[in-house]
Amino acid sequence: EQDVADYRRTLAIRVSGFDVPKPIKLFEDCGFAAPLMSAIAKQGYEKPTPIQCQALPIVLSGRDIIGIAKTGSGKTAAFVLPMIVHIMDQPELGKEEGPIGVICAPTRELAHQIYLEAKKFSKPYNIKVSAVYGGASKHEQFKELKAGCEIVVATPGRLIDLLKMKALKMLRATYLVIDEADRMFDLGFEPQVRSIVGQIRPDRQTLLFSATMPYKVERLAREILTDPIRVTVGEVGM
Ligand code: ADP
Ligand code: MG
Repeated sequence: EQDVADYRRTLAIRVSGFDVPKPIKLFEDCGFAAPLMSAIAKQGYEKPTPIQCQALPIVLSGRDIIGIAKTGSGKTAAFVLPMIVHIMDQPELGKEEGPIGVICAPTRELAHQIYLEAKKFSKPYNIKVSAVYGGASKHEQFKELKAGCEIVVATPGRLIDLLKMKALKMLRATYLVIDEADRMFDLGFEPQVRSIVGQIRPDRQTLLFSATMPYKVERLAREILTDPIRVTVGEVGM
């Protein structure tokens, strides 16, 4: 226990919540299958970043998480890698029922970056990733979603439009990520985020990541997460 506390201190990690899993030291500690380990190596990721060290075992254990760490700290892989494991754990993949993993990001640039990262780690598997955001053809995105996918990366407004158009169902969505939650609020997307959350089954696993944790984000997290573990890396602003 003292070792764990010391290790967390070394990484500037603080945690709260019950039964918090121990932080890992190496990607090997995650029990990832060989294809995923190769994809990680191919990315040139030698060892997990501090947020990854603590978030990966939490998310892999199925718990909800509030992850707070500054930009550039590797939050994307912290939710994409366990998402691949979660999807591969499903008994069967029926694309008609809609995505299993749903990732919401506040801007199209961020959604696109996440899409690229998710694609890299999906490549060894038969996992289809779709990205939907404004500024690109809604008709094309409609067709793509109709064809089915396991992961959708979306900006909130466009995802709601496509849900209204019945481009996708949320029946099997069980892994929801709200990325850059603070910017979601800055851009006025709180109602859209709440609407999306309301369309996903309550027994989902929910992950919320943010660079800062203002009160409004904290309040949203309390409402949409179940028994979350909160992980903070470094000094974080409100
Ligand atoms: P954040 O979402 O926290 O801003 P990103 O997930 O975008 O950060 O990661 C920032 C950069 O770090 C990206 O270029 C990413 O490829 C890289 N990166 C992520 N994890 C690792 C790792 N374990 N080792 C080396 N580089 C990493
Ligand atoms: Mg990010």
